[in-house]
Amino acid sequence: MATIHRIYNFAAGPAVLPLPVLEEIQRDLVALPGVGMSVLEISHRSKTFESIMAEAEADIRAFAAVPAGYKVLFLQGGASLQFSMVPANLLPEGATADYIDGGSWGEKAIQEARKIGAVKVAASTKSERYARLPTQAELELTPGAAYVHMTSNQTIEGTQYRQLPEVGDVPLVSDASSDIFSRPLDVARHALIYAGAQKNMGPAGVTVVIIRDDLVARSAACRSSVPTMLNYAVHAENQSLYNTPPVFAVYALGLVMKWLIAQGGLAAVGRTNERKAQTLYAEIDRTGFYRGTAHRADRSFMNVTFRLATAELDKVFVQESTAAGLDGLKGHRSVGGMRASLYNAFPESGVDVLVDFMRDFERRRG
Ligand code: PMP
Repeated sequence: MATIHRIYNFAAGPAVLPLPVLEEIQRDLVALPGVGMSVLEISHRSKTFESIMAEAEADIRAFAAVPAGYKVLFLQGGASLQFSMVPANLLPEGATADYIDGGSWGEKAIQEARKIGAVKVAASTKSERYARLPTQAELELTPGAAYVHMTSNQTIEGTQYRQLPEVGDVPLVSDASSDIFSRPLDVARHALIYAGAQKNMGPAGVTVVIIRDDLVARSAACRSSVPTMLNYAVHAENQSLYNTPPVFAVYALGLVMKWLIAQGGLAAVGRTNERKAQTLYAEIDRTGFYRGTAHRADRSFMNVTFRLATAELDKVFVQESTAAGLDGLKGHRSVGGMRASLYNAFPESGVDVLVDFMRDFERRRG
């Protein structure tokens, strides 16, 4: 195979995938070994796909130590559809759901839930431009709430929970789109975890939902009122094969899971991710030329947000870094500045190259 030049991809998602996974897809794309057909051509009811999906699920269960009593679903519609599915299935009339508003993605989830049922914002840091997450002491939780919704990592603002909020016996629902499988995860403390695959575990097109059986039962109770395709119970009963699933995305996700397992497991992946982020934060904090935009205690290990003294200088930084083969560093338009997304497949060498670039930029512009 000819050597192909790849640049460093700091995009927030879809994001960098492990090179060995891309190479395997390329090698097997025309004909899966022993099958003689492309993964793009096979039936979702074939034995081949059945085992691809079963293995992907088994690998997720092993890698994240998913306890018995949870279903792993492969759905479509992105995390954004979960903003609607969660309340449609789990928020009955007369009940209230608590939402922790810690960033732009939490706010989006709230907007959708409000269309369906009664929502209480348990705490919000919007007035601080979401530079930090609400603290435990700030949470005003509703006794007997249908669930509490949180966003484990705020992709846009660059904040991440170090510890899960305490919510007592109320089911905890987490949008883990931008940090799933990036560090040890106590599934048992959640009732439902959802995430689009396109940051830490695969290409766009598949959404993973890990849901506790009692919530599947709750969604079964509203089967007649919720559209079939939006009903967790339907997908759980049909092992994610109620209709045609995103076959290719599930296949690619399965390969990423195998790559992650080969990295030594979730704890090892978590250590590498923390090291990558801390290397970059250390550079941001070194002289004051760069400024981190999130409060230190809540800094994300996935999306590192920072800026320079002026928006002008930010612009030059983005232009020059892009030209140097460091792609995708422009921050989200609502925050400005820069954002370096360092998901699972982002190589440590890329962080070193960015740090070198930052030092050189500071020497020239500081
Ligand atoms: N939640 C979070 C935390 C996200 O980062 C994103 C995507 N960037 C979404 C939800 C929306 O995901 P999707 O595009 O898969 O609908």
